[in-house]
Order: sequence, then structure tokens, then C-alpha cells
Amino acid sequence: MKKTVLILLAALLLTACSNGNGGIQSVPADSQQNTDVVQTAAAGPQEVKSAKKDIFAMDTYMTVTCYGDRAQEAVDAAEKEILRLDELLSVGNPDSEISKLNEAGEGELSNDSKIMVEEALAVNERTGGAFDITVYPLMQLWGFTTQDYKVPKQEELKKVLETVGSGQLALKDGRLALGKGQGIDLGGIAKGYTSDRLMEIFEEYGLVSGIISLGGNVQLYGTKPDGSLWKCGIRDPHASDSDSSLLGVLQTADCAVITSGAYERYFEEDGKTYHHIIDPATGYPADNGLISVTIVSRQGILADALSTACYVMGLEKTIDFWKSSPEEFDLILMTADDEVYVTAPLKDAFSTDYPVHVIE
Ligand code: AMP
Ligand code: MG
Repeated sequence: MKKTVLILLAALLLTACSNGNGGIQSVPADSQQNTDVVQTAAAGPQEVKSAKKDIFAMDTYMTVTCYGDRAQEAVDAAEKEILRLDELLSVGNPDSEISKLNEAGEGELSNDSKIMVEEALAVNERTGGAFDITVYPLMQLWGFTTQDYKVPKQEELKKVLETVGSGQLALKDGRLALGKGQGIDLGGIAKGYTSDRLMEIFEEYGLVSGIISLGGNVQLYGTKPDGSLWKCGIRDPHASDSDSSLLGVLQTADCAVITSGAYERYFEEDGKTYHHIIDPATGYPADNGLISVTIVSRQGILADALSTACYVMGLEKTIDFWKSSPEEFDLILMTADDEVYVTAPLKDAFSTDYPVHVIE
């Protein structure tokens, strides 16, 4: 008789967040951490093979965990894909496709970049410009690309703001032409695209289940190996660098859970904090009343773009936006006055100690 094997994996996936320095650069991330609690008890008579790898790429500590006969191969393929995309997209690498494009002002897009730029343009349109990959010159101006931070002077900001606007981009037959002085930064969407790609890889390798944690982004392949739901912890935006307090825990499967928060990357000057999610309308760090935005969706790329966009849009616009297409995604929001808002389909799956408002 086969021995019943109980695999007890209490994996605390600690995921450092992107340090948001104008995209995805291969420099050490800040020590801020996001916590995703993953506990797996694979019951049943058969042992499920598992493999796990920690990777540092795209500015972020990442963890890939796979379950299935080909778990090790899937983890290796996932790592290869992450490194490939990092090299392609990093604005910190002068040889990346995006750096060359920014330098030349135009260029042929790879299939990966084309998918991201198309999605970015669609989300830009749908969010009234809140998501805009042309914020790159603003990221540079604030020093997020070099970590040489400074609050820009009004005149400088005004000048750079003129270059911001996806309406000045022209995408035709796979070629992207930038407007005068423009630069693009896929940092707000690339991790979501990457986690979608990893889901495809998991499928190819016939996995039973899998979980990836890329900075504040988690994507779940199926359920836990024992068929139960994953527990996905959302970082409390008030948590200090050294603690791992949670805003709450979401029980779910087969989806992306992607969070944007000011704590991912910021600096302080004269007692004021300035963070890395820029409002393209003002050129300043978004300050529209939300301090944490989590998007839950089947599509990582959409969830990533929307987490950034909704952070910029603020509570009221975000609620209206969700009401216009509630089947596409769900929300977990925290406002600056510590009120938590959750869309109705998540209300039983999400637990928190904060007072909750349900968005119907
Ligand atoms: P996320 O952590 O997904 O919210 O993405 C933040 C990153 O997206 C920043 O570090 C920038 O690279 C980029 N970004 C900042 N503001 C915006 C914006 N309004 N639209 C699109 N990308 C942005
Ligand atoms: Mg994002």
C-alpha cells in the first residue's frame, strides 16, 4: 500500500516590492515587503511533486512555486522567461528594446512589447488617461530612474508634462513612434504580463497547480494541490518595512491578485513623502485618496495596468469604472482614512480586521 504522504508546505512568500524606479531595472529592491501567505496541504494518496525558486529580476524578489510531475522543468522555464522579459523591457539596461526605442524615438516592437503597448493604450483610453506609459520622462525628472530623488521645480515639471500623453504615440504595423521628447515605461504593466506568460508555461508543463509572486503581484494557477483555495495576503500599506501586517487575506484560485501601493517606492523631502505612482494629469505622485489598490482578475496584464490606474483615479472614479464592467475584475481598496472597500463578489472570500464597505 502506498504510504499516504502529507506534504505540509507552510511557505511564507515574502515578496519585496518593485522599487518603482521608472520601470523595471535590475538594481537591488528596497527592503519593503509584501506578504502572501501560502499554506499547502496536499492530501490524498499520491504525493504531488513540487519545485520552488526565488528569483531577483524586474527590481523585485520573486518566488515561483509549481506542483505537478514536471514541476522542476516548469520552474526552470518560468525563470528563463522572467529573465528574458527583464532583459527585453528594462529601462535600466541601455540595450533593452524599450531603452533603444526611447533613445531612437521609434522602433519595431517585439510581440511581447506589442501586446503590452496595445493593452496600455486600451487602458489609457478606458481610464481617461490615468494609466499612461508616457510618464517615463516624469519618472526621470523625479529621480525614480536613478534613485537621485528630487522634487522638481514648477517650470521643469510644466515642460516635461507637455511630453506626457499616449495620444502622441503612433502604433502602426508593429512599429511604435513616440512624440517629441517622449519616453515610455512599461513598469506599471510588465509584471502582470509576465505572470500571464508564466500561466501559459504552467499549462504547457501540465501542472496541477502553481503560484507566482512577483513583488506585489500574485498569480495563481488553479487551486492548491489538495483542491482547496489559496490564501493570499494583501500587505497593509501602514506596515513598516520590518513587519508583515496584512490589510486582509483573500481566499481564491485561478486568478491574478495585483496590488499597487505608495509604499513600494518613495522618498521623503522636507517631511513630505513622494511616491512612484504618478498622476499624468498633474505630474505629481497620485494623491486622490487611495493608499492601496488590489485588482483581482483572470488576466494579470489587465490587473496590473488597472491597479496603477485606479490608484491614480481615486475611490469614486474607480467604483464607477468597476460598475461599468464588473465581470472583468474585482477590487480591494483602502482609502487614506483607513476605510476598506471590497466589490460584492469578493465579500465572503476576503477577511480583514478593518471596517469594510461592500461595493454593489
Ligand atoms: P505599479 O507598481 O504596478 O502600480 O506600477 C508603478 C510603476 O508604473 C512605476 O514605477 C512606473 O514605472 C510606472 N507608472 C507610474 N505612474 C504611472 C501611470 N500613471 N501610468 C502608467 N505607469 C505608471
Ligand atoms: Mg500596475
